Amino acid sequence: MKFTNYKNVLIGLFVIFSSFSFSQSFESKIIAHYKDFKESSLKDRRITYNDIQPLISNLKNNPFFEVQKVGESIEGRDLYLLSVGEGDTDIFLWSQMHGDESTATMAIFDIFNFISSDKFKAEKAALFKNVTLHFLPMLNPDGAEVFQRRNALGIDVNRDALRLQSPEGKTLKRIRDSLAADFGFNLHDQSKYYNAEASANPATISFLAPAYNYEKDVNDVRGNAMKLIVEMNQELQKYIPGQVAKYNDDFEPRAFGDNIQKWGTSTILIESGGFPDDPEKQEIRKLNFIAILSALFSISNQDYKTLDINEYKKIPENDSKLFDLKLTGLQYELLGETYILDLGINNLEVSNGKNEYYHRSQIVDQGDLSTNHGYKARNLAGYKIKPGHIYPQILDNLKDLEKLDFSSILSSGYSYVKVKNIPKNENHTNYPVQIVGTGFKIPSRLSVGSNPTFFLEKDGKVEFAVINGFFMDLEDIDNSIKNGLILR
Ligand SMILES: [Zn+2]
Repeated sequence: MKFTNYKNVLIGLFVIFSSFSFSQSFESKIIAHYKDFKESSLKDRRITYNDIQPLISNLKNNPFFEVQKVGESIEGRDLYLLSVGEGDTDIFLWSQMHGDESTATMAIFDIFNFISSDKFKAEKAALFKNVTLHFLPMLNPDGAEVFQRRNALGIDVNRDALRLQSPEGKTLKRIRDSLAADFGFNLHDQSKYYNAEASANPATISFLAPAYNYEKDVNDVRGNAMKLIVEMNQELQKYIPGQVAKYNDDFEPRAFGDNIQKWGTSTILIESGGFPDDPEKQEIRKLNFIAILSALFSISNQDYKTLDINEYKKIPENDSKLFDLKLTGLQYELLGETYILDLGINNLEVSNGKNEYYHRSQIVDQGDLSTNHGYKARNLAGYKIKPGHIYPQILDNLKDLEKLDFSSILSSGYSYVKVKNIPKNENHTNYPVQIVGTGFKIPSRLSVGSNPTFFLEKDGKVEFAVINGFFMDLEDIDNSIKNGLILR
């Protein structure tokens, strides 16, 4: 008897010890193999239906997956549901109901590769004994086609949960209802200019357990979503400490997340924001991969149940105090007086055809910006803002730009080059100057909404240039600009 007890204690200790080491290392082991799972054909944010269709087609022959066509978009693109697993707990994940929010779609295809691979077999077998996953990637393929938020009807699918007019929204509702899923993952992208409240950190990932009524009550359905967010937050803090935030939880009666929570599915919103030097959001894609997998395994082994929803409440809120570039303490001369200006500059994206974009930067705020932050920030106290001049030689066409020595042009204080013949459709070049038409006049003042193009001078020497919102050290101008604009 004594001996048996002793043995049971030993077995118990062994089980506790192994489950402890399992949960300590499992996600980090998966991350160590991420490069094997990353779907290499999806390379940047502007993915379309044609990029994912062949991948889905391949999965039809994969014994792990059940692939069903479950609807069509307005323009006739197929919507697919991919299911895997045989557990009683149903988990429904849908992405990209906003066509220009593709980060999680890329991560879903990485997760498919994780599921299909021959790695982590025992862990996956345990997972799929407990849960069944249902993925609906790229719910708005018509929007994705032109990289826009809205669908072909021009409506926001996420405001169609009550009227249910769009085929995309109808499909989402029908699948949710037919699965009566226990958990839902509503996968989006948010502005990269959101920061985690009271910090300079970008809100790289924001979570929300959406409210299901105006009172923002917490029942078990919403409470479980909060607990899973606590789990994912703990995991993400290992990779992006301080860069996780919480999305605004005001009840929106027309939105799907809020309604799906109301309909009884524990719903989690994941918003992919910004990350330094990650314009195509490939780091954030990886963070989606790890966050979602950690939640799926937590649902499977029910670890999340012991977590405290007060930890959810402690996650900082989203704030929007971040710029691409923040310049502090500049001297600015106006009508004979010198003032001190901080500038907040964003390198806004303009889509140029479906798979390309260029930057058209803007001053988005000026004045005392001491409560704002920047992905790039420079203290430039003592530097004077000097307007750029127009290069005296007028070029005939854009090809002639190749002959110019931009280093010497910029160092001489020229930020604009006049070109006589500019083709109608051209809006930008890859040169570090602004190209202007023959009728162009240099703007006389800096103002919110204007394009930031000027020089910075100290002790009579021009040291830095800002061209189309890109900051350049004139000692080293290479690679500092993405594009200059053509201004007519
Ligand atoms: Zn969205």
